[in-house]
Parts: sequence; structure tokens; C-alpha cells
Amino acid sequence: MTLQEQVVLKVGAEGGSITLWGSKNTLGQWTFSLEGNESALEFLLDEDDVVLLTRNRSKQWLDTWEEALDRLNGYKWPRLYPLEVHDEFRDRVWHAIQASRVETQWLWEWREICGVQEVDIEEQIHVLADWMKASKATVVLTGAGMSTESGVPDFRSPSGWWRNIDPTTVATVEALEENYALFHDFYSMRIQALNGLYPNEGHRILAELEKKNLVHKIATQNVDGFHQLAGSQNVYELHGSIRSCRCEDCGKGAKNEELLQGHACSHCGGRLRPNVVLFDEMLPQDAWQQAVDAIVDAELVIVIGSSLNVYPANQLPFMTKGKTVAINLEPTAMDDNFDLVIHGKAGEVLQGTISQLIN
Ligand code: NAD
Ligand code: ZN
Repeated sequence: MTLQEQVVLKVGAEGGSITLWGSKNTLGQWTFSLEGNESALEFLLDEDDVVLLTRNRSKQWLDTWEEALDRLNGYKWPRLYPLEVHDEFRDRVWHAIQASRVETQWLWEWREICGVQEVDIEEQIHVLADWMKASKATVVLTGAGMSTESGVPDFRSPSGWWRNIDPTTVATVEALEENYALFHDFYSMRIQALNGLYPNEGHRILAELEKKNLVHKIATQNVDGFHQLAGSQNVYELHGSIRSCRCEDCGKGAKNEELLQGHACSHCGGRLRPNVVLFDEMLPQDAWQQAVDAIVDAELVIVIGSSLNVYPANQLPFMTKGKTVAINLEPTAMDDNFDLVIHGKAGEVLQGTISQLIN
């Protein structure tokens, strides 16, 4: 039986296009096939891609959306202009655009064609404020995005990073043991980078909300100590602190100045290291357990400025039976798991929230 084919997704650029065709059987199941306009695709795709694409058309049917998407992803489709999206596929296509690692200059057009509703951030802040008023136990989990407004970079833009080195390869036991010079330079840079930087408005608002009994605990992945400097009392530092250091060999505490000056441990001559948790180390048991206990019992958990990429801290928000909220500049892979997601700057969203709570 031949069924009517319909356009599921059509993308293009000047003079050409790729079309994902679909046909739906009487049970509502779709099968797909890809079609490319060869002449136009030559300058868009590698030669191999073009050959594959034209050969695939009409010969090979793809049985699931995942398969179709997988095949499409080979052509970096999000960077092409969205021409058509089938009504039934709007959500799935928008999802795929958000999950894609391919840069697109057409994000706004993709939003429109997928019928994404305009989010009303005021309304979202209103909801958050209501939930905070109602909650008797609110835990905030913060990440590097909490401190970017203080001028501390997060780990997101690797091209701009120090000596083009991926921080996750230097903040490791391996680097400490096998490349101490690099490890030492990296942490000297990070310690010195905090000179002259201070907690921002967002940190101050969280401290004020704690005083007003609207925030009860803060668990942070940050090592900058800004929550305490801003006046928050109940802070669990899950990844330690960069404000002090110790000897890797005997454990004796030391001052950051000693590390910066390149001194060895005054007790045993061992290597000095900051009191941060390196990527391949265990989290401090006390801070972790207290954070888990607080989150399990929480009525509301608010994650601020974390991509939730780092295990095991990224498990915390989902241990609660309470409501979950994420405040983050950009979408993360975890967005779907939250009850409320607010895309915005931490400082601005917190400013909006506190003004709702206090008036
Ligand atoms: P991350 O760098 O992986 O993600 C930060 C997230 O914050 C990003 O998704 C980004 O979009 C968002 N963001 C940036 N600016 C924001 C703003 N103004 N408002 C709201 N969101 C904003 O950070 P992570 O999830 O914390 O994981 C990185 C690891 O690196 C952690 O272990 C962390 O301890 C460490 N780190 C700490 C610091 C610090 O102490 N300040 C800085 C960099 C990295
Ligand atoms: Zn020592």
C-alpha cells in the first residue's frame, strides 16, 4: 500500500534544500526518507554527504524518528534555514534543535516555525516567588554561572580559556602528580584571578533571603567563597574552597601566599595544593551528606547557574520530593526534568524574585 508522503522537515540555503519526507500508516506510525537537492547541496555538504544523500532517497526508508534524526544530524541541518516543519513534529524538531551541538544562526526562525510559545519571564518569576513563599525548606544549588556576574569565568567557553587548556584536564590528581608545574600555574592563575572580585547582587540577594527565612540552605559547586562573603550562613561547599590550601603529602594546612610563591610544605617539603576537589577526587563527605539530607527533605530546590554536567553534584536536584526550579542563562540537557525552568541571568532573575517576595 502506498501512502501519501508528507513533508516532515525541510531545510535550505540559497538555491537548495534537504527534505525529510514521511508517510504515516493507518496505525499512526511514520516512516521517513531523506531527499537532497544535489546541485544546491554541493557547497553545503561534503562530497561524500551529497552522494550518500542522493543515493538514500527513495531506496532506504527509516522506521523511527530517532533513525531519521540520526541520519539528518549527519548533515548538520540546524545550520540551514527552516523552510517547513510538519505540525505533528514541531515539538520533536524544537527539541532536536535545542539538543543539537551544531551552531545555528536561525534560532529565532526555528522557534517560530516550531510554534514555541513566547515565555513570559515575569510570570515565571511570579510562580517562583509563590513557591518560595509556600516552602518551609528551600535549598539552592549553585554553579559557576552564579559567579560570572562577579567576573569569574565559568568553564563554558573553552576557546577563551587560559592557554587554550581544558580546565577539566588540569584540575586533576593526574596533573597534580605528573605535571605539578602546569597544575601550579593553573591554580596560581585561578587564585589571583579572584583578586579584586567580589560577590555580586545575586549572592547578596540569596544572603538576604536566608535572613528572611525564604532560603534555608545553599549547596554550591563553586570554590570562590562568595556566598559566605555575601553573608550566607548555611553553605555546603561541595567542591571545597580555593581560599586556602594544604600539603598533598602530609595534609598540613597552608596559606595561598605560600603556594603562590612556589613554596613547598613547611612541614614535610611536599607539594601544596588548593583545598578544592579535583575532578577525579571524592567530594567531602560531610558537605555532601548534609546537602543530600537537606535536598531530600526540601520542599523546593532551586538550581542557579549550573550546566549540571559534573557528577555527582548534578544528581542532587533530582533527589528531592519537593518542587525543582532551574535558573540558567542557556538551556541545559536537564531542562525537561525540572518543574520550572527560567532562562535568564541569575542576578536579574533573583532581583525580580526578591521584589515580588518583599512587596
Ligand atoms: P558550568 O561552567 O559547567 O556551567 C555554568 C552554567 O551557568 C552555564 O550553563 C551557563 O549558561 C550558565 N551561566 C553563565 N552565566 C550565567 C548567569 N549570569 N546567570 C545564569 N546562568 C549563567 O558550571 P558548573 O555546572 O558549576 O560546573 C563547572 C565546574 O567548575 C564545577 O565543578 C565548579 O565548581 C567549577 N568552577 C567553579 C567556578 C567558581 O568557583 N566560580 C568557576 C568555574 C568553574
Ligand atoms: Zn607536608
